Amino acid sequence: MVAGYGASPESRRRNELRFGALAFLLGLTVFAVDTFTDIESAIAVLYVLVLMLAANALPRAGIVRVGAGCAVLAVLSFLLSHWHDMDVQSALRCGVSLAAILITTALLVRDHLSRALLVRANGALARSEKRYRSMFEQARFSLWEQDFSGVKDALDALRAAGVTDLAAHAQANPGWARGMASLIVTTNVNDATLELLGAADRAEVLGPLERFLPAEDPAMLDALLAIHEGRDRFEGRARLIAADGRVLTVLLGISLPDDGIGFDQVVVGVVDITQRERTQEALLAAQAELARAARAATLGALSASIAHELNQPLGAIVLNAQACLRWLRRDPPDIDTASKAVERMVRDSKRAGEIVQRTRGMLVKDANCDEIIDLPQLVEEAAQLLERELSAGGATLATDFADGVPPVRASRVGLQQVLINLIANGLHAMAETGAEKGAEKGAEMGAGTAQRELTVSVDSPDPAQVRVSVRDRGTGIAEEHRARLFDPFFTTRPDGMGMGLAICRSTVESCGGTLTARNHEEGGAVFEFTIPAAAPPPSPVPSPVPSPTAAPLPAAQED
Ligand code: ADP
Repeated sequence: MVAGYGASPESRRRNELRFGALAFLLGLTVFAVDTFTDIESAIAVLYVLVLMLAANALPRAGIVRVGAGCAVLAVLSFLLSHWHDMDVQSALRCGVSLAAILITTALLVRDHLSRALLVRANGALARSEKRYRSMFEQARFSLWEQDFSGVKDALDALRAAGVTDLAAHAQANPGWARGMASLIVTTNVNDATLELLGAADRAEVLGPLERFLPAEDPAMLDALLAIHEGRDRFEGRARLIAADGRVLTVLLGISLPDDGIGFDQVVVGVVDITQRERTQEALLAAQAELARAARAATLGALSASIAHELNQPLGAIVLNAQACLRWLRRDPPDIDTASKAVERMVRDSKRAGEIVQRTRGMLVKDANCDEIIDLPQLVEEAAQLLERELSAGGATLATDFADGVPPVRASRVGLQQVLINLIANGLHAMAETGAEKGAEKGAEMGAGTAQRELTVSVDSPDPAQVRVSVRDRGTGIAEEHRARLFDPFFTTRPDGMGMGLAICRSTVESCGGTLTARNHEEGGAVFEFTIPAAAPPPSPVPSPVPSPTAAPLPAAQED
């Protein structure tokens, strides 16, 4: 009995007084009966009752004092009533009474201690619950309390039936994951949730979660997998349908009980990122537009510059050629003067070549091949930059990094651009495969997307260089295109510019590397570039490798 705990201080005080008075009276009575009557029995044992009454009114030290007082009274009674005829029996009775008093005091003190701990724990629990409630209510982001016990039971039943691969089960039973959403019951939400969903009151939101989820959302299966695997947390991106039908993109955080119980009150945090996503999309579109415009401007400037600068040497070549013809047609032909004209033509042709070389150099003028770069890390960064393009194309990117790949010395921005170009080209090539297959198989999307995997591997064929391969599972390189792949302006895409691979090769070569292309024996294309390793001590920065300017860019490497 926890007398007085939880009651008001006033009524507790009254209780204490009442129990204190009763204990005092009972103590006096026991003392009187024990001392002044001839009852031959261990009357003093009744002090136990006094102690029990006092325990309701006194703190621990008080109980100990009352216990000591009862013991003293019992001994006093014994001495007063048996002073003259002390015998073993009455001494034993007194001893029994004393033992009872001592044991009871010890038990009451322990009980008191446990009660105090219990009360303290209850208080802490109540305070924690209050804190949680106020955080739940006042949080500026959406919080839901949901009952997942139906889902947990269903998953346990599946496990008992021998289903271990939940993903395969979901694939074999379309609509199963969505059906599980009807077993999740929302039991409470905060005001931020009402605001998020545009709901008028809680009643609109409480109940099965199903109606707020779109028909197809992989997040549901991911959350089920997290529960099935016994994880203590699930985080992911999901979509929600608001009360007015808007589709929201949200980030979900679910704290899952790790002990198998407590699934009836799972807390789910939801952050609305719809606006952020839209801004991001707009930003990416603007960036893509800007990049296109910049490339077009560069090309324009490049063409104008080539045209302007080549005009003069070409004009001189034509004049010298005409003069040469005239000297040769003379009778007799003036071979000496004609030879001089041809020499001038050779000189002007060389100059034209140098102009083309220099103008090409403008394309990669940012290339600062003096940075130490960790290529696996650069690949990860490029993959992150293309995350959206990959998911939009239904493609995945796998990486395969060999151990101990040394850093390279090159231009970070340049190589990043090369990786982005090669990966984007692979995506285009795979999208075309999907379209073809789709057409062949009656637009059966699954067939196309299943193969859409890009693999970027980084290794070091020898200690002096690092090799990066970008392998796609796309159309592959057509035989008739192979020789012109790296030519500027060569493209087979209706919206292509045909500058991507040419610029990639210039960038790689300007940092002392090579870029080649081939078809993979299992289908798709492999674009591979090598870059010199940054060996300690640092080797001198490689100067741009001159490539023959008058000749077209090197052709694709044969398989
Ligand atoms: P663009 O992408 O603007 O066409 P690029 O220079 O990047 O310019 O590519 C030139 C051409 O090379 C492409 O139009 C395409 O025909 C071919 N190509 C590039 N990458 C691949 C690839 N991964 N698979 C097949 N063909 C490719």
